[in-house]
Amino acid sequence: MNVTQPPNDESLLGRVDAWLHALRLPGAAARYRSLAEEFGAGEDALRFLEGVLAAELESRELRRYQRNLRAARFPVIKELGAFDFSAVPGLPKARVEELATGRFVSAHECVILVGNPGTGKTHVLIGLGMEAIRQSFRVRFVTAGALVNELLLARAELRVPKLLRFYGSFDLVLVDELGYVPFNREAAQLLFEFFSDRYETRATALTTNLPFAQWTQVFGDETMTVALLDRLTHRSHVLLLNGESYRMRESRRRAVFQGVDPPPPEGEGKTS
Ligand code: ADP
Ligand code: MG
Repeated sequence: MNVTQPPNDESLLGRVDAWLHALRLPGAAARYRSLAEEFGAGEDALRFLEGVLAAELESRELRRYQRNLRAARFPVIKELGAFDFSAVPGLPKARVEELATGRFVSAHECVILVGNPGTGKTHVLIGLGMEAIRQSFRVRFVTAGALVNELLLARAELRVPKLLRFYGSFDLVLVDELGYVPFNREAAQLLFEFFSDRYETRATALTTNLPFAQWTQVFGDETMTVALLDRLTHRSHVLLLNGESYRMRESRRRAVFQGVDPPPPEGEGKTS
């Protein structure tokens, strides 16, 4: 985590002001200079105060980080630092690094990761979520299937607005695996409502195995699919992770090292 910023005011008093401001302690900020005078506090005492305030800010940030990490409900922890970009030539590292700055979260933009199974979509999705949490954003991970179930249940209990408000409390929602399971019309409408609700007010990142041309198959309704894609792809970052499954590639590589027959590349395995 790299959030705690030393105040940039050069003078000791200025720095204490800045720490108090960062800690939102306006009462202390208003009075500490006169108190320092009253107690004859010298440079040492002010340095001590500065140290105490910095320690408090750091521990608050650590607790917030841990809280946000729990709230995100990641199924596993994946870091962008552990992602091998050379395995996905279609995915420029620089684009992912730009997204990792969190600017897309502040700008309420969408990230769409499209690719075949095993190409690292979930890894990048969670990695981006981890970076956003390091920048103090509130993040939530959910699979598209689980999200649809939550929305259907909420509809049955007449509390869709409440569920949308709950997701609205997160700066970034990560929706994994859109397109793996087709939806019925009601589910598609609810998902449409979900994405519309976040449109231009909150950031969303999602993964899908489906090229956009095939989204109608999953959402059923053509008009709604067009409207949904319009919202999702407006001011969005579309990243294509294509190629061979990383898992398959790795198991072939291990097999080569171990001197056993490697499994064939995907798509070449079946002969009739
Ligand atoms: P997808 O979501 O596209 O199906 P995953 O992100 O689940 O793929 O990747 C499958 C496994 O392979 C995960 O354990 C992931 O960490 C790993 N993996 C995939 N691509 C890479 C990569 N380029 N570098 C490092 N690990 C990768
Ligand atoms: Mg996945």
